[in-house]
Amino acid sequence: MNVADSEVVASILSPYYSITDSLRDADLILLNTCSVRDNAEQRIRKRLRELASLKKKNKSLLIGLLGCMAERIKEQLLEEEKTLDFIAGPDAYRSLPQLIEKASLGMVSYNVYLSEEETYDDIDPVRYDSNGVSAFISIMRGCNNFCSYCVVPYTRGRERSRDPKTIIEEAQSLFDKGFREVTLLGQNVNSYCWKATENNIDFADLTEKIAQISPLLRVRYATSHPKDISDKLLFVMAKYPNVCHYIHLPVQSGSNAMLQKMNRVYTREYYLERIKKIKEILPDCAISTDVIAGFCGETEQDHRDTLSLMREVGYEYAFMFKYSVREGTKAAEKLEDDVPEELKIKRLEEIIALQQHLSLESNKRDIGKTFSVLVEGVSKRSDRHLFGRNPQNKVCVFPKKHYKTGDYVEVKIAKCTAGTLLGEVTSDK
Ligand code: SAH
Ligand code: SF4
Repeated sequence: MNVADSEVVASILSPYYSITDSLRDADLILLNTCSVRDNAEQRIRKRLRELASLKKKNKSLLIGLLGCMAERIKEQLLEEEKTLDFIAGPDAYRSLPQLIEKASLGMVSYNVYLSEEETYDDIDPVRYDSNGVSAFISIMRGCNNFCSYCVVPYTRGRERSRDPKTIIEEAQSLFDKGFREVTLLGQNVNSYCWKATENNIDFADLTEKIAQISPLLRVRYATSHPKDISDKLLFVMAKYPNVCHYIHLPVQSGSNAMLQKMNRVYTREYYLERIKKIKEILPDCAISTDVIAGFCGETEQDHRDTLSLMREVGYEYAFMFKYSVREGTKAAEKLEDDVPEELKIKRLEEIIALQQHLSLESNKRDIGKTFSVLVEGVSKRSDRHLFGRNPQNKVCVFPKKHYKTGDYVEVKIAKCTAGTLLGEVTSDK
C-alpha cells in the first residue's frame, strides 16, 4: 500500500524533483510511514535520528513525513522530532509542493486533512523502484470496518473506490509498457464498489475487466476481507486463467470469542465455509492469512483454536503478529491488554512454527508439478538462476539459460524449502 502511495507522491513531485539513490545527494527526504503496529513507528523514530546528521551537513535539506503516522501523531511529532520540516497525511499528497515551499521558507507545515473523495485517480504513478514486470494499482482507499484493534480507519479515513475507467486505463498503459502483472490494492479490496447510475461495478466486475486486457497480463489483488469474498468473484477467478489463484484472506483468530471482540463480523464456521467454497471452485488456489497472537482476553483455548484453524485450512503462507495496543482504537479504550508479553511471544512463536511446517508441507506437495512462472529477475542467492512466481504466489527458482525478466516459462518443481520452489524450465510460452 505504501509503495503505491510513494509512487503517487513521486508523480506529484516529478515537476520539482528527480529521484536519487543516494541520501547524501538528496535535497528532500520523504519517509512514508505505517502505524498499524507499534514497531513500525519505532523504526521511523530511529530513522529520523539517523537522518539528523545529514541535516547538519546539508543545511538546505528538507525532511518530510508521510502516511499513517503523520495522521496519528502530527503535533506531537513535530514537537518531538526536530529533524522534521513538514508532515502530510495520506490524503494530502497533492498539497506537498505547497508544504515543501513553506518548509523551505522555514515555516513548520502540515496537512493531515482526511478526505472522503480523494483517490488520486488522475495521477499516473511513477514506478521508480520497479522490476518493469509487476506493478501495484491502488483501486480504493480507506476502510470502514473498524476492527477493534486497528488504527487504519482513523489514519486513512473512510472507504472510497476509484473510478474504474481510470483503473482500466492504468492497467492497459502498464501492459503497453511491458508490465505483465498488476496487483489491485486496497485495505478491503473486495468491498470495492463504484456507484454508477445504471449498473454498479463491484470488485468481481472490475477484476473481469482487467483480466480482459490481455491473457498475458496477470491479475492479483490484496487484501480481501472474509465478509466480502463472494462466489461471483471466485467464478471470475475460475473463468480467467490470468487471474492468479491466490487469495490473501486474513482470519486474525480461530476463536469466535476473539473474532467477536475484534469486530471481524464473521465466525470461525463462516470463514471455514468460505475456504471450502474457494477450494471447491478453485482447487489449486493458494491461501494466505494474517494472524494476531495475544489479543485482549485470549485464553489458551482461544489460542489452540487459532492453531487448529490454521491446520484445517493448511495456509500456504501467513503474516503473524503479536497484538500491540493502538491508541484511539476501540480495543485500546474498552478492552484490557491482559495477555502478558512473554505469553504473547510464546503463542506467536507457536503460530510461526506451525506455519513454517504448513508452508513446507504445501511446497512438498508441489514437487513434480509444473507451473507457469512469470520471470521477475535474477535470484538473490545465485546469479546463474532466475526467480519468478507461480500463480499461487510461490517463489520459483530455476537455471537462467536464455530466459529474461518478463518471460513466461513452465517450471517443473524438483525440490523445495519452506519459502521457495526449485525446478527446471520445461518450456517457454
Ligand atoms: N486491511 C487488511 C490489513 C490491515 S493491517 C485486513 O483487514 O486484513 C495488516 C495486518 O496487521 C492486519 O491484518 C492484522 O493482522 C495486523 N494488525 C493490525 N492492527 C494490529 C495491532 N494493533 N496489533 C497487531 N497486529 C495488528
Ligand atoms: Fe484494519 Fe480491519 Fe480495516 Fe483491515 S479491515 S484495515 S484490519 S479495520
